[in-house]
Amino acid sequence: MSHFAFDPPPIAALPVLGSDSLFPVGRIFCVGRNYDSHAREMGQANREPPFFFTKQPNALVAGGGAVPYPPLTADLHHEVELVVAIGPGGSIFGYGVGLDFTRRDLQAEMKKGGKPWDMTKSFDAAAPVSALRPAVEVPQVATGRITLTVNGLPRQEGDLSEMIWTVPEIIAELARYQPLAAGDLIFTGTPAGVGAVLPGDRLEGSVAGVGSLVVEITVAG
Ligand code: MN
Repeated sequence: MSHFAFDPPPIAALPVLGSDSLFPVGRIFCVGRNYDSHAREMGQANREPPFFFTKQPNALVAGGGAVPYPPLTADLHHEVELVVAIGPGGSIFGYGVGLDFTRRDLQAEMKKGGKPWDMTKSFDAAAPVSALRPAVEVPQVATGRITLTVNGLPRQEGDLSEMIWTVPEIIAELARYQPLAAGDLIFTGTPAGVGAVLPGDRLEGSVAGVGSLVVEITVAG
């Protein structure tokens, strides 16, 4: 009988509010430029449809907490986002609040060179996500305030109604590329106000009716 040569990597998982079971995370998909206000601040003048990229599940920081400042950037940006969690049969299992951390300076270089973004979006602790609120407790995500404060000061503010692709549209679009599976997380894009963080900063993201997420940027170990 075959066996693993060493212990397999741990399965990333998220707490579920009101439950002692965990949501096991398979894949992490993200939507880029899903709010006009953020597309504009990124210099995108003409309206183009949103698009997808991915993060590795080991980028997850489950429930928030410490985020060590990553290497190879001097411009780590926050992007607060509604996160959709997919359950069995392609159903929506629940929702969370996520931070799509981005090495913005490296991303600008990659864009300029026509190179892939992967290393600017997927790295250790690049994807903190709050505990999930079960979908049955969330009547709708078509509207609702989405905000981020840094050290108590407002940085990002928007409303879910400003999303270019709505949650059902995102799911339908993404499913054209591959069937969705239980365990998938989808970051749905960020409103305007993205900016840099530094070690010592305390970030609090929130989505009305879903929850909140607190992370603290720490000095790289
Ligand atoms: Mn994003």
